[in-house]
Amino acid sequence: MTDPVRFVDLAAQQARLRPELDRAIAAVLDHGAYVSGPEVEQLESALGASCGADHVVACASGTDALVLALLARGIGPGDLVLVPSFTFAATAEAVALVGATPVFADVDAATCNLDPASVHHVVEALASSGRAPAALVAVDLFGLPADYPALREALAGTGAWILADGAQSFGASTPDGAVGTLAELTATSFFPAKPLGCYGDGGAVFARGADDLDVLRSLRVHGQGSHRYEHVRIGLTGRLDTIQAAVLLQKLTIFGEELDARRSVAARYAAGLADVVTVPQVPAGVESAWAQYTVVVAGDRDALAARLGERGVPTAVYYPIALCDQPAYASFPDPTGSPVARALAGSVLSLPMHPYLTDDQVDLVVSAVADAVERG
Ligand SMILES: *Cc1c(COP(=O)(O)O)cnc(C)c1O
Repeated sequence: MTDPVRFVDLAAQQARLRPELDRAIAAVLDHGAYVSGPEVEQLESALGASCGADHVVACASGTDALVLALLARGIGPGDLVLVPSFTFAATAEAVALVGATPVFADVDAATCNLDPASVHHVVEALASSGRAPAALVAVDLFGLPADYPALREALAGTGAWILADGAQSFGASTPDGAVGTLAELTATSFFPAKPLGCYGDGGAVFARGADDLDVLRSLRVHGQGSHRYEHVRIGLTGRLDTIQAAVLLQKLTIFGEELDARRSVAARYAAGLADVVTVPQVPAGVESAWAQYTVVVAGDRDALAARLGERGVPTAVYYPIALCDQPAYASFPDPTGSPVARALAGSVLSLPMHPYLTDDQVDLVVSAVADAVERG
């Protein structure tokens, strides 16, 4: 008998690190600097070293990281910001929260990431009415980095800069470098279920060069100026808790091993499922962080998920509604109509993915999917 297959297994990771976590949390209780304690700066350095980013500003969530990055570059009312129509809501939410207008572009069926051809199409559609995007938020969906060089080309001549939404992809890399260095600014999330997660909410902004650093740090604490009660801009309460930084510092010590384990799971799934469903495509030279292992199924997705559930295989649908069709976002411009995003919303299925899946468990999932597809 194998143990039950979990979709994500945070308990196994905690058991592995429990003594270190207890000590790290106790150290914060002892020194008492619950906010902006020394662990926060230690974490910022460690994160920068692990991905090669010049600067890191830890913050309270992935959504705050996106908002801080947009505010730091002065994005606001009147600005158009391109976003993919297949992503978690926070990508477009951050744009709308700063007062700018999200404009949807469609995604590529093979990678689920922004399709540079669609971005080009949207740029041309805007140009025909005399408009240009101020920025683009590229999402590294399911842990796979977007095609940044091609996106940059699609934006050529617009002056738009790129914010990477790496909420799912910290730890991934491309031939051009690791996530955190692939765009002008990168946002990530440390929500517990992300590849590198804390025990609550957390996030970080990664910057290439020091230009945005002072502004990001000021925005993180109410637009603070030269001292605590001088406020030079409108900011937020965007700090990362010291206890979360202490937890992340411990988890970072095993993060490389965990990424390797995720990659082994993904390779085993691909070998077993390539002839059964459409498995995720990873471009040459790219390493995904495998936040999710998401397949595309041809038949009745929800019936397949139900059959897997009966076999003890938990699944999830990321995302059942394209963002351009969500009630809160449907009124934002969607020049292409996002046909690929809409098709994916009806056909994607995410399988169990975490570093503590055994080969036997992966094989069990593979045979359950194969049986369920055959019966479908
Ligand atoms: C999780 C996620 C976010 C938001 O991160 P939080 O830490 O939950 O605020 C943003 N974008 C994407 C693509 C995400 O998956």
